[in-house]
Amino acid sequence: MKISKNLEAVESTLCQAINTVGRKRSDVTLIAVTKAVSNEVTKEIYDLGIRHLAENRPEGLQAKKTYLPDNDIKWHYIGNLQTRKVKQVINEIDYFHALDRISLAKEIEKRAEHTINCFLEVNVTGEESKHGINPSEIEAFIDSLQDYSKIKIIGLMTMAPIDADEATIRKAFSTLYQLKNTIQVKGISYAPCTELSMGMSNDYQIAAEEGATFVRVGTALFKD
Ligand SMILES: *Cc1c(COP(=O)(O)O)cnc(C)c1O
Repeated sequence: MKISKNLEAVESTLCQAINTVGRKRSDVTLIAVTKAVSNEVTKEIYDLGIRHLAENRPEGLQAKKTYLPDNDIKWHYIGNLQTRKVKQVINEIDYFHALDRISLAKEIEKRAEHTINCFLEVNVTGEESKHGINPSEIEAFIDSLQDYSKIKIIGLMTMAPIDADEATIRKAFSTLYQLKNTIQVKGISYAPCTELSMGMSNDYQIAAEEGATFVRVGTALFKD
């Protein structure tokens, strides 16, 4: 009951944001981040029609996958992934949002049984505590993936600075949008870079206004 109300509120905020800038609701995919909730609660959001789900730990992913229907869900992995855990995860997912180092790309190339849709994680604001590559490193990173047949860079991902004001968050998202465009126009076959994964419970509205194609929302959907 509560979750359906939360989902309605998120949908309404999302639609409003999207309308403001003249985009379409279908331009943005809502991913429910289920990392902090049980299998049963995850099933509730599934029953409300959400088909894109995200986890950030191999154990959580496995548990949810075992519990939920196995034919119509797109699974996203959003967390930092230790290289040694790649083999546990990579063939279980449809999207990987946290590619941030070549050693990880190497391990994915070695373990993946099909092409993996990857987001390059970018640390737009250069905070030391954060994962993600520096904006100035994106082009070289993508160049170095040329021979990785299993990796497709479908877009860029970022996390906004924590506790920043709206203007700062907006700036981070619009910067990522521009970075995405500079890659996209190159027309690289293995890096189409058409997608933008940005926006969480506190800032998905801003992200949708700034061009997000995937927003990753947990707390706002599952709060009491
Ligand atoms: C937890 C998490 C989210 C969702 O965060 P909420 O604030 O609960 O919406 C989104 N993206 C990543 C990478 C996360 O780790």
